Amino acid sequence: MKIFNTLTRKKEEFVPLEEGKVRMYVCGPTVYNLIHIGNARPMIIFDTVRRYMEYKGYQVNYVSNFTDVDDKIIKKAIEEGVSADEISRRYIAECKKDMEGMNVKPATTHPQATQEIDGMIKMIQTLIDKDYAYVAEDGTVYFRVKKDKGYGKLSHKNLDDLQSGFRSLQVSGEEQKEDPLDFVLWKPKKEGEPFWTSPWCDGRPGWHIECSVMAKKYLGEEIDIHAGGEDLIFPHHENEIAQSECCNGKPFARYWMHNAFLNIDNRKMSKSLGNFRTVREISKQYDLQVLRFFMLNAHYRSPLNFSADLMEASKNALERITDAAANLKDRKNSAQLKQATAQEKELIGKSQEFVRKFEEAMDDDFNTADALAAIFELVKFSNSSVTQESSEEFASALLDTLVKLCDVLGLKAEKQDEILDKDIEELIKERQEARKAKNFARADEIRDELLAKGIILKDTREGVKWKRA
Ligand code: AMP
Ligand code: ZN
Repeated sequence: MKIFNTLTRKKEEFVPLEEGKVRMYVCGPTVYNLIHIGNARPMIIFDTVRRYMEYKGYQVNYVSNFTDVDDKIIKKAIEEGVSADEISRRYIAECKKDMEGMNVKPATTHPQATQEIDGMIKMIQTLIDKDYAYVAEDGTVYFRVKKDKGYGKLSHKNLDDLQSGFRSLQVSGEEQKEDPLDFVLWKPKKEGEPFWTSPWCDGRPGWHIECSVMAKKYLGEEIDIHAGGEDLIFPHHENEIAQSECCNGKPFARYWMHNAFLNIDNRKMSKSLGNFRTVREISKQYDLQVLRFFMLNAHYRSPLNFSADLMEASKNALERITDAAANLKDRKNSAQLKQATAQEKELIGKSQEFVRKFEEAMDDDFNTADALAAIFELVKFSNSSVTQESSEEFASALLDTLVKLCDVLGLKAEKQDEILDKDIEELIKERQEARKAKNFARADEIRDELLAKGIILKDTREGVKWKRA
């Protein structure tokens, strides 16, 4: 499996630190609003990377943080007259709902910055002790960039260029820095802001230190993959490398992966430009599987322009997959013949060619667009080779392959069985009759069957009431 590594700017063979295991960290969102579909791009892409690694047999420890202390969260809290904590709690819950809708698996751990302050203070202290950081008069702690000889290696920037850029950008209040390149590890509190006590001043951490600390705590000092959107390469990831490597004395992450932007009218979608569409808005118009398909139909390192036309095309393409799966399921359920014939066995063997193509595409730096093309070849093959005369084994084998490959991409080939109101009423009636006949086992079975379909029953004095979960 080859991964394009931003650090070396090359596709490299993936070799994990520990055989059979992957330690992966993905920078998560700052939670002060509903996430937009630009934020959804890394979520979908790196969830797919994780799923493919799992498909290949790796055990993946996947960590993705929520940044829950930040100027934007504090600003929103002040606007609403509530605590910053309330804002971040609300939008973490909303973000998790969107992730579920997009079929993004929950991370192994979703740490939150505010829960990891002790670790941050410890890492900052180590950096001070090692002379990589210093405390200014007002208690701000800065990282001493020039002392880190490797600085700039991820973003491929050289210190002199950076320096001339920074000199003209220097803002007031930063005169206390030894060097314009130095960045904040800890800053003093401002009136009305959340703060924590530290050896230097009451205050809060800088943004970069949180990821270095959480990656170390949940994955270890050295990790396999560190990922995020390409806007994070500089300064966020460059600074993470500086902090982690200077503190731990070891290389931090082996492979750095970055997704390109989701654009709208060829400009980056972002909250600050106001040109964003939230995942929630999209979910009113489309099943979020369509959004997932739209994202995966492009290579993750290519910019992707959002458009209504592409969403419609994605919807139609996805339907070709779900229709093929539904057709295979029908054939499987209504087949007269159980066992595959010799000729069908040969065709099952042939269908493995699409699996091979799928894997080949995914092994080449997660080329999901080509992987989808392999799935469409399988769809075409299924549509033309499975008929009313086909055996159950044949239809079933093709269906399993289709469902399995789609699942690696987080796409659900089989539509959830929607249960209709009239079927629910029928089952409730049957349950009442079973109860009358003291057949409680059957009554419970019906209740469980409905529950599995998301229907909750409530026995009231006026009879049985039900609702969809
Ligand atoms: P933020 O909440 O801005 O820190 O962003 C969370 C994640 O979304 C980061 O990995 C960003 O790089 C990524 N991101 C933000 N906007 C976009 C966009 N328009 N396209 C792709 N990724 C984005
Ligand atoms: Zn980060």
